Amino acid sequence: MVRADMVRGPDFLRAASDAEFRIGLCEWLARELPALAAGRGPAAMNSIEFRLAWENHICKAGLSGLGWPREVGGHALSLSRQAIYHEEVARAGAPLPVNMIAHGIVAPTLIAFGSAEQKRRYLPRILDNSEIWCQGYSEPDAGSDLAALALRAERRGDVYLLNGQKIWTSFAHLSDYCLLLARTGQGSSPRTGISVMLTDMKLPGISVRPIRQITGEADFNEVFFDNVEVPATALLGKENEGWRLAMAAANYERSTYFVPRVVRLQSELEQLIRLASRTYRHGCAVIDKPSVREELTRLCINAHALRLFADKILADSEAGEASGVDSSAIKLLWSENHQRLFNLAMEVLGPEAALGPQELNSPDEGRWVREYLWTRAETILAGTSEVHRNIIAERGLGLPR
Ligand SMILES: Cc1cc2nc3c(=O)[nH]c(=O)nc-3n(C[C@H](O)[C@H](O)[C@H](O)COP(=O)(O)OP(=O)(O)OC[C@H]3O[C@@H](n4cnc5c(N)ncnc54)[C@H](O)[C@@H]3O)c2cc1C
Repeated sequence: MVRADMVRGPDFLRAASDAEFRIGLCEWLARELPALAAGRGPAAMNSIEFRLAWENHICKAGLSGLGWPREVGGHALSLSRQAIYHEEVARAGAPLPVNMIAHGIVAPTLIAFGSAEQKRRYLPRILDNSEIWCQGYSEPDAGSDLAALALRAERRGDVYLLNGQKIWTSFAHLSDYCLLLARTGQGSSPRTGISVMLTDMKLPGISVRPIRQITGEADFNEVFFDNVEVPATALLGKENEGWRLAMAAANYERSTYFVPRVVRLQSELEQLIRLASRTYRHGCAVIDKPSVREELTRLCINAHALRLFADKILADSEAGEASGVDSSAIKLLWSENHQRLFNLAMEVLGPEAALGPQELNSPDEGRWVREYLWTRAETILAGTSEVHRNIIAERGLGLPR
């Protein structure tokens, strides 16, 4: 159990200035990441096993709960320091975490809406990463139109009886708990009558069936609920008022969410330029091909503009002026430019792009092909491009529905 009066983490967390914070963090990363990654190539660095090992290492070192209030064991760092943290971690080449739902969505939602008992029970185990969470929102007939969700939770004395199905639930096969949306009442509109449940994934009646993705990995799942008895104490907030909580949860981390992704895009672009310089076809370096140079230039400009946009969103968030439309715009621009970058990587690789990510001879251990395939999902997850374009058109530009 983490106590509010405990001092956690390396000294740089308490640095007097942002510059000292950045220097201390960079020194820590330069020491810790290579030590943990020793002997691993690009494929092993991105494996779930290493991602979890690195995440556990970070949490053990006290580098979790950066933005949480001190009374629940957090460091209460400013948004700009959190952004420096995410930026330098991405620049150091650290892999993306696995337990993102717990740290980025569940914890802030619990801090805002959880009972004292729920905070005491769940927050310390998110801080030390000993419990993994997934997010059970989407269903076969409820994705973009989330309010159409049908998984039923009926109150029976001290428990809710759950019946129905979720789909595309990332890391459900590894998870201890699920932040689940269920229908508890009818209400006057589809958005009323929805509740949030902190559901133990080990309960009898829950079965998880992995779905294999185009990359060959199986990180997301179908989850079936067959007469699952969830204790009534698992309800987060009030019954039938879950929509408001779910929308608030979607807003958390918006400001810092894209900082690491935009930094990663810039560093992937630098790696692509190196790949195009050392790849030769018909006696010429691929980077000298006019279409490749033109697309690389376009991507460099877009990556720089994205970086400035991420900084603007962060400054607006610190001033309490964050806009949902800007969040939609950066998600759209980041995901589409990320796809564009890996489309170009396939052109650079030429015939070698036909080798699958698991092929032994695939360049850079199949990393380019794997990322190319994975980026197909990025214009679907966290809101599809069409849905974000609708938000920008209607709420940002005031166009008719
Ligand atoms: C890699 C990955 C991980 C995911 N992880 C999770 C997770 O952990 N938990 C979870 O709950 N969900 C998860 N999802 C699901 C994701 O949130 C949904 O896929 C997404 O919301 C889209 O829903 P859908 O797949 O049902 O598509 P649909 O909503 O059925 O959309 C189908 C097509 O119709 C278009 N469309 C829909 N509505 C409109 C509209 N109003 N105007 C114009 N076009 C429209 C869409 O853009 C899309 O092209 C994940 C998805 C992916 C790809």
